[in-house]
Amino acid sequence: MKVSEKIQQAAAAGTPFFSFEYFPPKTEQGLVNLYDRIERMARLGPLFVAVTWGAGGATAQRTLELCGVCQSVFGIETVMHLTCTNMDQAMVDEALESAKNAGIRNILALRGDPPRGAEYWTACDGGFTYAADLVRYIREKYQDYFCIGVAGYPEGHIESKDADQDFKYFVEKVAAGADFVFSQLVYDASLFIKWEKRCRDSGIQVPIVPGVLPIQSYQSFRRLVHLTKAQVPEDLKTRLEDVKANDQAVKDLGVEHAVNMVRELQSAGISGVHLTTLNLESTVQRVLNALEMSNATPLTVGSSLNLAQQTLRS
Ligand code: FAD
Repeated sequence: MKVSEKIQQAAAAGTPFFSFEYFPPKTEQGLVNLYDRIERMARLGPLFVAVTWGAGGATAQRTLELCGVCQSVFGIETVMHLTCTNMDQAMVDEALESAKNAGIRNILALRGDPPRGAEYWTACDGGFTYAADLVRYIREKYQDYFCIGVAGYPEGHIESKDADQDFKYFVEKVAAGADFVFSQLVYDASLFIKWEKRCRDSGIQVPIVPGVLPIQSYQSFRRLVHLTKAQVPEDLKTRLEDVKANDQAVKDLGVEHAVNMVRELQSAGISGVHLTTLNLESTVQRVLNALEMSNATPLTVGSSLNLAQQTLRS
């Protein structure tokens, strides 16, 4: 089922929802461990899950495999990220056909970041230049088969020197055929709320889901903020500096901040949240428990983990 429809159904029923994002591990053992975790986390009741596309397509095969298992074995609606980095049209065709054969109906169409070591992003020969080009291509080739999502940036895209022009390109990207939007991670809910209103005022009607990554460690948070240039509220910065030497206290603060942010978003009528898990379980689970959003519905699939492992081996 298309995630845009699932989101609209949840909204119509007035049910708050959450979804999880995973990345493809580098090793086979990492993948097996992740299947185990995804199966447990499925019991929390995510509306859907998403799997990232490794920078530069480095882990493309694992993304496809992981998506296929989530969709077909675990029976969780899955969004496959797909980027244009190092991908010519034939490679994009191959990835989309594999996704279709695995029963995947949802694609997050992205331009991608520059591959490791490269300072600027450049399109490869026979490839796509912007995410909007990929959206148009998928829409034209597959019509309505795929539900297409795009990325949105409440604080503007990092490469852009002109915020208004960047927003205009974003609106055009959605108009090119997007069915939903996932936002860049935010640490200040009010920035998302303001941006979402701007999107609505600009005529965007598709679901827009905020990206939230509960802080898991001081160092990884600093790295992320450095990379994304995300604005961090002053009181969060101060409190984080106070506890930075205590890993558990950092995690506790991360949970508290994420919970408060989701509550603020919900108060503004934004009832869904896309949680980046970093493939970890406990912090996300604590956030959902505190929000009383998780359920313990067991998976309907019997021995799904065994099935996943068989799929991995076959
Ligand atoms: P675009 O929408 O193409 O925008 C890129 C830049 O081009 C922007 O500065 C924009 O202003 C500019 N631009 C757009 N259209 C035009 C035009 N017509 N003329 C001139 N300039 C234009 N990366 C990965 O490698 N793998 C992932 O799985 C992944 N998942 C992500 C998920 C989310 C929710 C987000 C927010 C980002 C993700 N990224 C991922 C990172 C993403 O690939 C980068 O942020 C990338 O730099 C931009 O991708 P985009 O699809 O937003 O690009």
